[in-house]
Amino acid sequence: LPSPSSYFRVVVLGATGVGKSSLIGEMAGDTQSDTNDVTDDNDNVLVSVHLDDEESTVELIDCPVDTSMDALRPDAFLVVYSVSDRKSYLTAAEVTRHLRYDLGTDRTVYLVANKTDLRRQQRVTTKEGEQLAAKFDCRFLETSAVLRMNVDTLLVRVLENIRGQLSPP
Ligand code: GDP
Ligand code: MG
Repeated sequence: LPSPSSYFRVVVLGATGVGKSSLIGEMAGDTQSDTNDVTDDNDNVLVSVHLDDEESTVELIDCPVDTSMDALRPDAFLVVYSVSDRKSYLTAAEVTRHLRYDLGTDRTVYLVANKTDLRRQQRVTTKEGEQLAAKFDCRFLETSAVLRMNVDTLLVRVLENIRGQLSPP
């Protein structure tokens, strides 16, 4: 079993249809762990990640926007929007504002701009994503769940950030 210090909870937030379940599925699918890729009733999964000679288990928690996050006590948050859906960007802005100002969390928040493969339907620019991330002290990454673009990178970066906040340089 993993030691408690290498078990991390990551809550995935964002409007309906932005690709949360798809991203979670792709992140879980990549690690061909023989131990635990367990899907439960929601789209939550446990993913084993081997990084820097250390094994970590990351629980990805698919979370409706209106869930109270106090009880979940996650180690990091992913806030996902679709670059083809302007409203989902506004939702992401509200969610990140809520996390920082209402919840007051100092945890890693990753702003994820998904569906970057839909170039011709793009309604949110990279710059707007970067500006939102900067405003609320979030990391930023552009992804495509269908092309598996930056999906592995996202998982690795989130884990690096979680480990980094446990043991500051
Ligand atoms: P959720 O409601 O946030 O969990 O979104 P889903 O993961 O269920 O995805 C909603 C729809 O968007 C599905 O039809 C997915 O196939 C599609 N989708 C998810 N990610 C991407 C992506 O990166 N690019 C494109 N083109 N479609 C995507
Ligand atoms: Mg879903």
